[in-house]
Amino acid sequence: MSLNDQWRRVRARLHAELGEATFNSWFKQVELIGVGDGRVMLSVPTRFIRNWIASHYADRLSQLWADEDEGFTRVDILVAAGDPKSDGSEEAARSARPISAPAHAESQPAASAIPSGLEDAGVGAPLDPRFTFDAFVVGKSNELAHAAARRVAEATDVSFNPLFLYGGVGLGKTHLMHAIAWEIRTRQPERKVLYLSAEKFMYQFVRALRFKDTMAFKQQFRSVDVLMIDDVQFISGKDSTQEEFFHTFNALIDHNRQVIISADRSPSDLEGIEERIRSRLGWGLAADIHPTDYELRLGILQAKAEEMIQKNGPVTIPAGVLEFLAHRIVSNVRELEGALKRVVAYASFVGRPITLDMSQEVLRDLLRSNDRKITIEEIQRRVAEYYNVRLADMLSARRARAVARPRQVAMYLAKQLTSRSLPEIGRKFGGRDHTTVIHAVRKIDELCHLDSGIEEDVDLLRRMLEGGHGPN
Ligand code: ADP
Ligand code: MG
Repeated sequence: MSLNDQWRRVRARLHAELGEATFNSWFKQVELIGVGDGRVMLSVPTRFIRNWIASHYADRLSQLWADEDEGFTRVDILVAAGDPKSDGSEEAARSARPISAPAHAESQPAASAIPSGLEDAGVGAPLDPRFTFDAFVVGKSNELAHAAARRVAEATDVSFNPLFLYGGVGLGKTHLMHAIAWEIRTRQPERKVLYLSAEKFMYQFVRALRFKDTMAFKQQFRSVDVLMIDDVQFISGKDSTQEEFFHTFNALIDHNRQVIISADRSPSDLEGIEERIRSRLGWGLAADIHPTDYELRLGILQAKAEEMIQKNGPVTIPAGVLEFLAHRIVSNVRELEGALKRVVAYASFVGRPITLDMSQEVLRDLLRSNDRKITIEEIQRRVAEYYNVRLADMLSARRARAVARPRQVAMYLAKQLTSRSLPEIGRKFGGRDHTTVIHAVRKIDELCHLDSGIEEDVDLLRRMLEGGHGPN
């Protein structure tokens, strides 16, 4: 078995485990340098990628290599020469070819070439002063996007080009882009940063066409150091704009300028955008922002509450109210923020302290639309996974404790999280009687009071189900 075959297999397994987008972001540019002394030496183009792989995938990589050959006991990741931020280990990696050569070319002194007054001319969009890194709360779901945004904002070289941020509505894409722009303005005011929405880009382009002024249009865009285009999914379909966007994009990347793009979906899922553009969009780093989990929502609410207090003076927001909102407003951060503001505004308007009851009352409509329909099947599946029993055991007549307890937990959650009646729930659990369900609900209720282990299990499962996704 040749070393290259082993490397190919390790890569294939990573690809299968991580999926296309994640694999491309981290492992596409990893190269095998060689092996020796039980060490496998890999090279990556930047220190950022090295650190990320080391902190997130080191164990998995070692394991995969050990699966190939027990003799491999260590995996070393070196930064290929070329990244100015790389550490001493590049000596060893000198033989490694820097992968995207143009991205590491010496960056030109920027200011001189840049015509000033770009934003005054109304090309860019204004930046929201609230959208800074300081105001951005980091959690598991946005950790990667945040780290990449920071890297781009702090680097003097071009890190990954383009940085492609994607995720659902209201999860912080625009916030991160503005934060990058603010940060660069503070750190490197000589760099020209241009932020605009894809819609505005199209509008500008159409106008330039009408006034037969496309030269100036091109010039404006191609003279920036950092171009950010928000919500690029809106460019789909419009052929000539796509073409222009693509040329602008290519020109900037070829000139080693940083491009940052956002969209509501991954590059490969962008419909109505030409294949060659789509694939080029995925060349750099594609970082997705996942839906928030409970902890992040609570963290964001606490930060926003603090901000409100600093701005508008003291308000008392009971912790229980924040927890309640974090539990129940799961759709997106914008709605979460809006909910908090509504509660605070209402309380100050009627001159009463904020309470849970009041919050429920004020937010009735919002809460209803946030009620995700959780199905009994979903509960059964989750609970079975969680306790490591077979899904079939949820429905079976087996009474062994190892399956009976998880089954009771699932019934309990079905009662709590769905609007199904007791007989309906019983039927879904292998045709059991409704009294069995009542018994299960009582039992679990009782156990939650006696046994904090069960209470935690139930709580965690409830959060996973309400959040619509797993603990990761
Ligand atoms: P998107 O562009 O992804 O639709 P935005 O960036 O406009 O979403 O975010 C919507 C709102 O939620 C903004 O007010 C933003 O400040 C806030 N927000 C989103 N994510 C976070 C976060 N992690 N920390 C703090 N505020 C956030
Ligand atoms: Mg946005």
